[in-house]
Amino acid sequence: MDKIIGTSGALPFTTGDAILELSYLLAALLFVYGLKLLSHPETARKGNFYAAGGMVLAMATTLLLHKNNLHESIPLTNAIIIVISIAVGTVIGWIMARRVKMTAMPQMVSFFNATGGAASALVALLEFPKANMGNTGSVLVTLLGLIIGSIAFSGSMIAYGKLDGKVGDIRSKNMKYVNMLLLAVTVALMLFMMFSGHAPEELNWHIYLLFGLSLLYGVLFVMPIGGADMPVVISLLNSFTGIAAAMAGFIYNNEAMILGGILVGAAGSILTVLMCKAMNRSLLNVIVGAFGGSASGETQAEGTMKEITLSDASILLAYSQNVVIIPGYGMAVAQAQHACRELDKLLESRGVTVRYAIHPVAGRMPGHMNVLLAEADVPYNKLIEMDDINPDMPNTDVAVVIGANDVVNPAAINDPGSPIAGMPIIHAHEARNIIVMKRGRGKGYAGIENTLFFDSKTRLLFGNAKDSLHNLINEIKNL
Ligand code: NDP
Repeated sequence: MDKIIGTSGALPFTTGDAILELSYLLAALLFVYGLKLLSHPETARKGNFYAAGGMVLAMATTLLLHKNNLHESIPLTNAIIIVISIAVGTVIGWIMARRVKMTAMPQMVSFFNATGGAASALVALLEFPKANMGNTGSVLVTLLGLIIGSIAFSGSMIAYGKLDGKVGDIRSKNMKYVNMLLLAVTVALMLFMMFSGHAPEELNWHIYLLFGLSLLYGVLFVMPIGGADMPVVISLLNSFTGIAAAMAGFIYNNEAMILGGILVGAAGSILTVLMCKAMNRSLLNVIVGAFGGSASGETQAEGTMKEITLSDASILLAYSQNVVIIPGYGMAVAQAQHACRELDKLLESRGVTVRYAIHPVAGRMPGHMNVLLAEADVPYNKLIEMDDINPDMPNTDVAVVIGANDVVNPAAINDPGSPIAGMPIIHAHEARNIIVMKRGRGKGYAGIENTLFFDSKTRLLFGNAKDSLHNLINEIKNL
């Protein structure tokens, strides 16, 4: 069946090998096409499906057709272990994905990212003893896979803890020096292992030390990052996982793995750059710089928060000409997107123009608001990016802030000492009237006071956003 159709070096090249190579090419095309579809909310589901299909194809053909250097297939016992492992992982992932609440999605993404980093690090750890130390390139790839994969693993676990509120920021002035020293020691150890002339078996404890140092660096690198800088770190860790997977692909000389890793690494890097732009931060500033500043630099809000009654809020909204809804993390927590869309439709039926202002880091994951609003069937042309909506804010009758805080905090533009100084915001404070829906005096992710809530034009509608919206809808219907 498996006819020899040529030679690859000294080894025969069979039909099986050709099918394997072709399947990798097809998988790569499916990854790229999937990524393209992922770039729009309407086609994102399909994109995920195609990319996953590519991965299943690559895994299946590898399992069935892969040959080692001696042109032997994967032994049956190994194949059984691999299939059982895939089945266990699939079931766990499936249960987690089904059970996860929409608001805990960012934590789950971080957790999955951590597992990707761990897998690549373990591949490198297992393969190092077999490394050919004379081949510097291959040793470099193995050690880099170990370092980057370990940092992605431990860093993502800390990010998971932070997003889940289990881990706080630990900041100290000297932390960045400790981190730089740790990174220098890690790189020095890697170089020593590469060029000392020792065989892998003589570097037994070195490899575990390198593993430990990299894990520690991942923890210490993410630990102090706070303020509102986490989105950048999360996408950076995501790109690390992709790069580590590509390194693991080089170790096995597996094209599908290399390509998949490079695509994740590239997508993560592009997202990191976009996030940095969105936060008006340089990457260096996020990693070793201000670390979100200190609490002492925080703006102290003056004045009192003024409440608005339901009937006043309903009259204000129903008789205005244009309304801009600014959703944030609180809308996701309250799952208020459907109620929000209902209010939007009701107001439009009364001739009010309703649009949504989308901040790139609103919520807890890139595109969080787009996903939520798409779920509630809000037409995409109503979602206006921050830079496009800001010039219209002074002409807006009412800005309705639903569970957003940091992304509308004027301290970002008028207080250079603020932990979020420099971060672009949606200019809700420029609207003629501002209604803020929140439960109480809770702060946003950056943990700082928001002067918008004390502005003379701002009125607060306290309560869970979904309940407030339902009450508001009923009130407007009775007008
Ligand atoms: P924030 O986290 O700044 O604020 C959320 C607000 O929602 C709080 O003021 C809270 O006040 C209110 N809230 C919470 N639950 C409810 C509820 N059930 N009903 C009504 N209100 C509620 O959100 P933003 O979206 O403005 O900002 C996002 C922040 O998260 C930024 O700092 C960003 O950097 C960071 N981040 C973003 C990531 C991303 O990729 N998008 C990733 C990681 C971090 P109260 O408790 O009083 O109700």
